[in-house]
Amino acid sequence: MAELFTGDYIQINDSSGTSATIHFRNIVEWINEGIFCVNGEGKILYANDQFCRNLGYKRDEIIGSLIFDYFWNEDQIKISKQKLELRKKGLSDVYEIIMKKKTGEAIWVRLSGKPVFDSNGNFVATVTIQADITKPKLLEDELRNAKEDLEIKVITRTRELSEANLKLNEQIRERKLAEISKLHTEKRFRDIYINSPDAIYIESLDGIILDVNAATCKLHHADENFLIGKSIFDVSPPEVHEVIRKRQPKLISGEITKFESECVTKEGEIIPIEISTAKIQFKDKPALLMHVRDISARKATERLQLNLNDELEKKVLERTAELEAANQKLTAEIQAREQIQQQLETQKNFLRQIIDSIPNLLFVKNPEGKFLLANKAVADFYGKTTAQMEGHYDDVQNFTQEEIEYFAEQDKQTLASDGDVNFPERAFTHIRKNEVVWLSTTKKTIPSLTENEKNILGVATDVTTLKKAKEELALSEQLYRALAGNLPKAAMFIFDKEMRYVVAEGPLIGIVSRPKAEIEGKTVHETIRSSEVETVVNMYREILTGKEREFEQTFFGRILRINHIPIRNENGEIVYGMVMIFDISDIKQAQRELEVRAEQLERSNEELERFAYVASHDLQGPLRTIASYLQLLEMRYKDKLDGEASEFIRFSVSGAKRMQLLIQDLLTYSRLSNTPKPFATVDLSEVLNTVQSNLEATIHNSRTQINVPDNMPAVFGDATQLVQLFQNLIDNGIKFVKERNPVITVHFNENPNEWQFSVSDNGIGIREEFKEKIFQIFQRLHNDTEYTGTGIGLAICKKIVQLHNGRIWFDSREGDGTTFHFTIQKPKEETQD
Ligand code: ADP
Repeated sequence: MAELFTGDYIQINDSSGTSATIHFRNIVEWINEGIFCVNGEGKILYANDQFCRNLGYKRDEIIGSLIFDYFWNEDQIKISKQKLELRKKGLSDVYEIIMKKKTGEAIWVRLSGKPVFDSNGNFVATVTIQADITKPKLLEDELRNAKEDLEIKVITRTRELSEANLKLNEQIRERKLAEISKLHTEKRFRDIYINSPDAIYIESLDGIILDVNAATCKLHHADENFLIGKSIFDVSPPEVHEVIRKRQPKLISGEITKFESECVTKEGEIIPIEISTAKIQFKDKPALLMHVRDISARKATERLQLNLNDELEKKVLERTAELEAANQKLTAEIQAREQIQQQLETQKNFLRQIIDSIPNLLFVKNPEGKFLLANKAVADFYGKTTAQMEGHYDDVQNFTQEEIEYFAEQDKQTLASDGDVNFPERAFTHIRKNEVVWLSTTKKTIPSLTENEKNILGVATDVTTLKKAKEELALSEQLYRALAGNLPKAAMFIFDKEMRYVVAEGPLIGIVSRPKAEIEGKTVHETIRSSEVETVVNMYREILTGKEREFEQTFFGRILRINHIPIRNENGEIVYGMVMIFDISDIKQAQRELEVRAEQLERSNEELERFAYVASHDLQGPLRTIASYLQLLEMRYKDKLDGEASEFIRFSVSGAKRMQLLIQDLLTYSRLSNTPKPFATVDLSEVLNTVQSNLEATIHNSRTQINVPDNMPAVFGDATQLVQLFQNLIDNGIKFVKERNPVITVHFNENPNEWQFSVSDNGIGIREEFKEKIFQIFQRLHNDTEYTGTGIGLAICKKIVQLHNGRIWFDSREGDGTTFHFTIQKPKEETQD
């Protein structure tokens, strides 16, 4: 047996008689897995380097030792012992087991064992190939821990790998066994070489095929004669030639021992292959042993897998896209719905706001009296919120029992009717405002939205104001009637916007118009003659648009004053038109008579004034003569006449003097109107200076104090007349004083259109009752012996003031002084607005 393993070379004889010597070491080293042989007791007869490396021992330590010592535990040892016994009986198989390294680490191995029998059939030894499968084992664990979603793929792949692995192992086993057999029998080696399911060929270092096995022929669809002697380039597709060229030296140097490539069949079909190489001696020359495996199936599977993956990925993408599209559609649909929902909500709110802002009471009830809708006005009226009303029946509202019954009756009538049902105005107590409100209600049926029944829509309007207005109108109508009825010679017509007569009243009705019964309640068209109706309608239309007019018109010899008056309500809106007719014929007549009389008076006044002037002017001469002669008589016959005659003459002289004074004053007065002078600007300071110098002696004798403002204004007037005016007033003020020194004060005041002056004294005063009389000519309150005077002074003052478009009056308290006031109009351009 030992000599079996001592030889370094194996002679291979093929059927044709050619032989090859294969270096045993080369073969065992070429197989890069552990190989060992044990005898029947389990003693290790042979172990290759790889086996020693796998377990971490030196060959010397291993050879001769028992194989059982290298198993992990008792169980494993037991299995290996059983296997040895079975080998002796001829079993060849593959099993996995745990061995123990020198370092104490475990090593998973796959053992492919085969017995070797000699030519007599006696058991010689086992030959076992040991493959380290620790890494795959660990990988398996890792894979187990892989992610859940990859698990199926991993399992599938693992299964595929396991199957492939199994196949591979079987192939390896068979190959190895065949090879091992050839270690000691040429025939056996030849069998292994020739019958190996994997293609094996030997090529020279420059790539010429030297030998091939049957599987190689099969792979290339050619016989060995075709293949042997060909270059490897001939059996490879041109695309890989460059790669082959570069790889060849690396194969020779042993740098590359395993690679993938492609070969080409005789017909030109390209087949993917996996190649393991080993350097051998072939016919005493170094050569390369090429162990070729067809990997088309694996490649196809890989391609299939890739295709499947691609397809799956594509499908996933398609499905994802579909789902995304569907999702987008769905999202858009949801958004659209949401939008519609929002729009509906907005619309609903909008409608609700409108309904709630309606001032009328608006509600919808179902036939059982449940409020389906009640607007804010309804809720306010009953002191509730809309939410408290809606969804509830009449009986939980703030209604009285009587109201509930009344409303039920209304609803009954409404449901029985087709159209609007108007209910008479009725008073209710407004719960919130606590006041009586008149409501006018209209109800009608409306179809229910959801059920096949009718609901009731109600609208109630607050007619309190209208009702009051009607009442007030009735009252004012009465007033109008009373007024017009009692006005003498008047007629009154009131008409509404439709030009229908509401009132026709007054004694002239039936005289200037048709009788009352034919007017009231009738329209203008029904009452006025067609030839005049257009004029009247136009006139009435003007009144109704606010035109007020007053004009006179004759009517069968009578004079009528006609007033057009628009009648407005409290808001200023025109609600009626009124025409008032007064018969003013009598008034007109009286007025005309008055005017005639005034004219006559004016004329006689003028004549009188002329007469007074002429008389006073012409009387002065004779009077002067009388007075002169009387004085002459008195002088010349003073001693000849007795005392009585002298007295008479003195009286006559005094009378004549007084008459002279009277006539002078009268002449002054007459001149005022008969000899007018143009007005000019007059400085009143100068006027008052003149007055004071004219009255100098009087002022001095009576010890009068006169107060005049420094800033007396200038006025527009007649200077002489103004001197006369102030002089008369101041003179009177000095004259009518008793038992005190006179004090005269002048004041002035400026008004927009006139100047106002006053002259006050501290005299005897004038009683109120004489306020008119003292300004009349020749009117005096005292006799001449008490206070001298002619009674013309104030008449002159009045006349002067009148000529200056002013007024004169006085304030006085008897015994306490008098203040005379007068005004002088400013010239037009000077007046202030
Ligand atoms: P006469 O002064 O010449 O009597 P007037 O016309 O000036 O005439 O006055 C009329 C009358 O008015 C006077 O007689 C006098 O009784 C009364 N009277 C006028 N001025 C005053 C006055 N300042 N105080 C009191 N009485 C006056």
